[in-house]
Amino acid sequence: MQSQLLINGQLVTGQGEKLPVYNPATGEVIVQVAEASAQQVEEAVQAADAAFEQWGQTTPKERAEHLLALADVIDQHAKTFAKLESLNCGKPYHCALNDELPAVADVFRFFAGASRCLSGMAAGEYLAGHTSMIRRDPLGVVASIAPWNYPLMMAAWKLAPALAAGNCVVIKPSEQTPLTTFKLAELAAAVFPPGVLNVLFGRGASVGDVLTGHDKVRMVSLTGSIATGEHIIAHTAPGIKRTHMELGGKAPVIVFDDADIQQVVDGIRTFGFYNAGQDCTAACRIYAQKGIYPQLVKALGEAVASLKIGPPEDSSTELGPLITSQHLERVIGFVERAKALPHIQVVTGGEKVAGPGFYFQPTLLAGARQEDEIVQREVFGPVVTVTEFDDEAQVLAWANASNYGLASSLWTRDVGRAHRLSARLQYGCTWVNTHFMLVSEMPHGGQKLSGYGKDMSMYGLEDYTAIRHVMFKH
Ligand code: NAD
Repeated sequence: MQSQLLINGQLVTGQGEKLPVYNPATGEVIVQVAEASAQQVEEAVQAADAAFEQWGQTTPKERAEHLLALADVIDQHAKTFAKLESLNCGKPYHCALNDELPAVADVFRFFAGASRCLSGMAAGEYLAGHTSMIRRDPLGVVASIAPWNYPLMMAAWKLAPALAAGNCVVIKPSEQTPLTTFKLAELAAAVFPPGVLNVLFGRGASVGDVLTGHDKVRMVSLTGSIATGEHIIAHTAPGIKRTHMELGGKAPVIVFDDADIQQVVDGIRTFGFYNAGQDCTAACRIYAQKGIYPQLVKALGEAVASLKIGPPEDSSTELGPLITSQHLERVIGFVERAKALPHIQVVTGGEKVAGPGFYFQPTLLAGARQEDEIVQREVFGPVVTVTEFDDEAQVLAWANASNYGLASSLWTRDVGRAHRLSARLQYGCTWVNTHFMLVSEMPHGGQKLSGYGKDMSMYGLEDYTAIRHVMFKH
């Protein structure tokens, strides 16, 4: 199993402290991996900075060819990647293979094309006797920090636009889930010139701070928790670095009386529990209008109870384990505190699953109130709440009364209402009569404490460029 870092085109063993990498389905250690030392972080940043000299000067077509080549090798090794992701994250193997891997390769292909299509304002004589033009140039070295919930996909979301724009990257996967990024490092070493893409391993305090604080790093891109985002913004402030933050979420799902109840039930069963609910856009905060509330709670309870928990390699498994025992304890804590409230009804689930691995039952809690912790805070597990509402004004106010602003959905047959509310929801994305669907052409990113900066789409590519004005006196 590849567990080395990639620095300046070479696979090298970390020289820092060894950390265990776990299989969450069994709780067993898969491999011990050594963190990068401070010296290795230095080498990676210096290698990226040196490689930028050439890579930053390549044509978009040349960069596109490299990204397309990487997409092809990802496709060729899709089963290996899916096995590693499933082993390290506890995801059902069939989901990793059939849902995630095609999306990962597509992101590289999208940005390959996008790199050749950057657009901007027309050049012109905005001052008499002078011609002005707009450039979008790469920034230099980008440090990318990825989370554990979709390790390879998040790496793709960060690497593809940064490299497409002509930057060089040093990426640090989560210390809990490095295995697919290590595999990608091995394959990328044969695709990119040395130093263009470097992969480190380690924790925030030992490796992350050294990396993001390095004066040659011009931009830091994070997908992770709000606490880590706040920390990185403060840590990089003295260097006035550009930051790109994709943080947590607590998606409101607004269900009106006129919604197609079967569609809603199927949607929440899928989009509330995919990846065991460890998803920043998970359909977890349901607001149901009072007319539909009783039927919805009943039908959803039955649907959620039918979700199949099991080993990740089983093709019928729908719900795998949570990522770590600490995270399982965190989810248990949220649910126990909610259960202690007199108005909460446990419709289904609510307990840890006995046996090895970090499994938690798919859980539906009804009767939740707007002010409850379980409605306000990100649980990041297979836990969905339902709250009853009266009218449009009330639910809009509740949906927006949140620190988060990543994703939301509306379920109604009334097109006018769907437009009216979509315009007023303070979320980076609003889906109507669906949830969770992503495409490479459209941006993903938040507002408020969910962060700023867009992943995917042309906006994502632009985020990794500097806008420059060049003016010629005639
Ligand atoms: P986390 O913040 O604990 O860790 C994310 C990454 O940050 C890891 O690689 C970690 O090692 C690193 N890190 C921690 N401290 C650091 C430091 N001081 N310097 C540099 N790096 C540091 O988050 P997590 O638990 O891995 O991921 C879950 C969180 O990510 C959830 O809140 C979830 O909502 C969010 N998330 C958001 C999106 C999105 O697109 N908005 C997508 C996936 C996950």
